[in-house]
Amino acid sequence: MSGADEYSVLFEPVKIGPVTARNRFYQVPHCNGLGHLRPQAEAAMRAMKAEGGWAVVSTQEAEIHPTSDLSPYSENRIWDDQDIPALRLITNSIHEKGSLAAIQLAHNGHHAQNHLTRAPLLAPSELVLQTPYPKQARAMDKADIREFRKWHRAAARRSREAGFDIVYVYAGHHMTLPHHFLLPQFNDRTDEYGGSLENRVRLTRELLEETKEEVGDDCAIALRFAVDEMLGSEGMQAQEEGRAVVELLAELPDLWDVNVADWSNDSATTRFEPRDGFQTTYIEFVKQVTSKPVVGVGRLTSPDLMASLVRKGILDFIGAARPSIADPFLPNKIREDRIEEIRECIGCNICVSSDSLGVPIRCTQNPTMGEEWRRKWHPEIIERRVNEEAALVVGSGPAGLECAMQLARRGYEVTLAEAKYEFGGRVMQEAALTGLSAWKRVTDHRIYDLQQRGNVQLFTDSRLSASEVIELGMPNVFVATGAKWRRDGRGKSAFHGAPIGLGSQIFTPDDIVAGVMPQDGPIVVYDDDQAYLGGVLADHLAQVGREVVFVTPASIVSPFTELTLEQTKVQRSLLEKGVRLNLSQTLAGVAPGQATLQCVYTGRENSIECSSVVLVTQRMRETTLYDELCGLTASPLKTLELIGDAANPGLIADAVYSGHMAARNFERNADDIDREFFRREVISLESA
Ligand code: ADP
Ligand code: SF4
Repeated sequence: MSGADEYSVLFEPVKIGPVTARNRFYQVPHCNGLGHLRPQAEAAMRAMKAEGGWAVVSTQEAEIHPTSDLSPYSENRIWDDQDIPALRLITNSIHEKGSLAAIQLAHNGHHAQNHLTRAPLLAPSELVLQTPYPKQARAMDKADIREFRKWHRAAARRSREAGFDIVYVYAGHHMTLPHHFLLPQFNDRTDEYGGSLENRVRLTRELLEETKEEVGDDCAIALRFAVDEMLGSEGMQAQEEGRAVVELLAELPDLWDVNVADWSNDSATTRFEPRDGFQTTYIEFVKQVTSKPVVGVGRLTSPDLMASLVRKGILDFIGAARPSIADPFLPNKIREDRIEEIRECIGCNICVSSDSLGVPIRCTQNPTMGEEWRRKWHPEIIERRVNEEAALVVGSGPAGLECAMQLARRGYEVTLAEAKYEFGGRVMQEAALTGLSAWKRVTDHRIYDLQQRGNVQLFTDSRLSASEVIELGMPNVFVATGAKWRRDGRGKSAFHGAPIGLGSQIFTPDDIVAGVMPQDGPIVVYDDDQAYLGGVLADHLAQVGREVVFVTPASIVSPFTELTLEQTKVQRSLLEKGVRLNLSQTLAGVAPGQATLQCVYTGRENSIECSSVVLVTQRMRETTLYDELCGLTASPLKTLELIGDAANPGLIADAVYSGHMAARNFERNADDIDREFFRREVISLESA
C-alpha cells in the first residue's frame, strides 16, 4: 500500500446533520488572541487551515452576550447584529477554500469576568471568581435561565446569518454555563436544574433542542462536552456520569466533540503528557453510545494513529488544535504522501501563552502562525530568491536552522556551519532534560528539510572565526551564535550579580546540559529567570537522584509556566520528588559549602548548606564573531545580520521567528520593510 492508500480512510467525506465535511480532518475550536479585536487576522489564519486541508475549521469561543465578557482576552463575539460582518469575514474565507465553518457559542458564566461590561456574573449557584478579583456570581433564577436560553437562540440565528455551517453548544473545560450546570462542583441547586444528573443535564438538553429548532435545517449542531474532569472520584468520570450524559443526549446533537477537562488537561504539554492520543482511553466509549459522528483530540500528529482511530471505530473525525497550528497543511501533506514534511507540534503551549497574554497567537514550530494577514506570511510558500547569491549561516540553533531552511527554500545556495558535533543548539540541549524530549522535533523537521535540498551544505565541528568566514567567500552572512547563561548571578533581582566567594562550586544550565554534574551534597538551583528552565533543571537533577534545594525570588515555582497551563504541575512535580522549595528569596551570596538567601520582603538573611549552586539568572549574548566581522576594515560582506538569541535572548519560538524573518527580508528593500512593519486593523471611528 502506498502512503496515500494507507491513509485514504482519512479522506472520506462524512455527513454531519445537514452538511457534509469533505474529509475527516477537523480543526476544533482554539483560542488565538486575534478574535473580535483582529477579525481580518483571524479570517486569514482560519483560511490557511482550510487551504491546508482541514475539512472543518472552527472559531474560538464566541461570547454570546455582554454577561459573558472575556476581556481583556480577545475571543470571538456575537452579542448582536453588529458582530455579524466580522464573523462573515471568517466564514467567507473558510468557504472560499472549500471547508465548513463552525462557531463555538459560549456563555462563560462565572468564568467570564465582565471587566469591560461590568455586567453581573451568572452561575448555577452562588460562586466566587477563581481569579483574585473580588467578585461573585449570583445563582441564576428561573428568569435568568430563560433569558440565557433566549440569548443562545439569538446567537445561533446570527451564526447562521454569518454563514456558519456548524453551531456549537459548549459544555467543556469548566468554562461555560452548560458545563457548570452539569457538574456538582459548581451546581448545588435544589430545583429541576440541580441534583440528579437528569436535572443537571436539562440546560444542555434545552440548548441543543432550541439551537436545532432555530437553525437545525441549515446548520449542524455540535456538542462539545468534557467526558472526564480528570479529578478521579472527586469529579465527573468518563466511565460513570460522563458516559451517562452521552447516553442521555446521544442522538440530540449532529456531532459529538469530546475531550477532557480542564483546559490544562485537554491541552496537556508533552512535559507532563508525552503520549500522542493521550485522551483516547477517556473518549473511546462515545461511539458505542451514539450513532452520530464523533471528533476527539489528544495532540494527534501521527497519520498511522489517526487512521487506526478511524478504522477501530473510535473517532469519525481527527480533531486538532495544536497540530493544526504547528502545521496548517498537515492534511494535505498526508494526502500527498509527504508525511516527513509534517511540522509536528512539540506540545510546548507557547501558542496558549499568547492567548493567556491577550496577544496574537504564535507557535514554536510555525513562525507564520498569526502572521498570515498582518505580514502576509504563508507557511508553505516563500518568495523566490532575487539574485544568484550565496549565504552563510553560522550556528545551528533554532534561529540558524530556520534561517538556513527558509533561505534554501527561496533558492539561495546556503552553507550552514555549526561549531559542535551536532546540529540544534539550545534545542538539543534542552531536549535532553527531563520531560522535554519532544522539543527535538524543532531540529528534526529542519534538518530533514535541509538534507533533502541540493542547494545546501551542512557542516558540524566547524567553529568559524572572522577570517574563516571571509575566506569562505560568501557575500551574505547570518550570525546565529546564540547565548550562554551567566556565572555571576546578574539577573532580574540583581543587576550587579551576587558576591561569589573563591572556591564556590558554581554551575550554569549550559554545564548541566553538557553533562558536567555538581558533586554530591545539596545542590541549590537558583532561579531568577523565573521562566521554565530553572524548574526543569531542578526536576531533572532530582530525577537523577540528587538532593535539590530550589530558590527563587518568585512566590511560586516557574511563574512563566502559568501562561502555558503547567505551573501547578511543575510545582507538584518538584514537591513529589522531594525538592525543598525556598520561595520569595534572592541569592545574597555564595561561599564554599553555603549559600546566603535574603527574603524579598523583609531583607532578612539566612544561610543554607549546599555543595554547589546552579545559577539560572540571565543570558549573555554570544557576539564575538559578529563583533569581529563588524570591525573589519574594507569588509567584502554585503549582508551581515545577527539573529536569534545572539541578537535578543528569548524563547525558542522567538529564535525561530527571528531566523524566519531574516530569511523573508533578505534582499527586500529596507524602506519597504520599515514602512510595512506590519498591517494593523485600525479601529473604525464611525459611530454605530
Ligand atoms: P539560537 O537560539 O539563537 O538559535 P543557540 O544558542 O540555540 O542559538 O545556538 C547557537 C549555536 O551556534 C550553538 O549550537 C553554537 O555551538 C553555535 N556557534 C556559536 N559560535 C559559533 C561559531 N563561531 N561558529 C559556528 N557555530 C557557532
Ligand atoms: Fe504545538 Fe508549541 Fe506550536 Fe503550540 S506553540 S502548536 S504546543 S509547537
